Amino acid sequence: MKTIGMLGGMSWHSTALYYELINKGVQQKIGGLHSAKIIMASIDFAEIETLQRNGNWDRAGEILAEHSLKLQQAGADFLLICTNTMHISAPIIQQLINIPLLHIADATAKVILRQGYKTTGLLGTRFTMQMDYYKSRLQQQGLKVVVPDEKECDRVNDVIFDELCYGTIKDNSRIDYLNIINKLAKNGAECVIEGCTEITLLVKQVDTKIKLFDTTAIHADAAVNFALAE
Ligand code: GLU
Repeated sequence: MKTIGMLGGMSWHSTALYYELINKGVQQKIGGLHSAKIIMASIDFAEIETLQRNGNWDRAGEILAEHSLKLQQAGADFLLICTNTMHISAPIIQQLINIPLLHIADATAKVILRQGYKTTGLLGTRFTMQMDYYKSRLQQQGLKVVVPDEKECDRVNDVIFDELCYGTIKDNSRIDYLNIINKLAKNGAECVIEGCTEITLLVKQVDTKIKLFDTTAIHADAAVNFALAE
């Protein structure tokens, strides 16, 4: 079994979920008392969030890159960036390290395409929905991407940073998300990506008939498969 290097803490609420899902996945696949081999760097999210808000992506990327190198030196066989947004730095990090980086958008696109969908809605931080680094990665894999309008992007983003990253779950936020998901479907989305690792804490598949793709679960599952592959 390979050792997984996790860049976590962004936020710790979804990192905890990753940790649980990966261990459950390994236990389900090989049984017994097996658990995942994990080395984790848990980053102080306040530092990263401030840099994101100020558009200082270079410094945020440097911090993640430093931790990625430490994980590699500590013996990680491959790397997971346990958040969608900071995949903005994935290309620099992959250049720096000699171990593979399992990209969350690639893993998600693969699962969506395998299930026959061609056009997907995308929810996430404002950066993920409006900048290019994430959408273009999905498009490169052959998906069409629909995002909410400006006002809806603000609402989705504010719920992530003001509630979900604090571990706060509110019914009225879930209702707003479900309305936005319905609107994405009206605008042509056949399914919707929960492209922020905390959204799954708020909106689950049972809440809507529209097919959801939970990036936390997909990324964790990809990690389990990669760790256990020959
Ligand atoms: N965890 C979130 C994501 O998947 C947001 C936190 C962040 O801005 O890094 O994008």
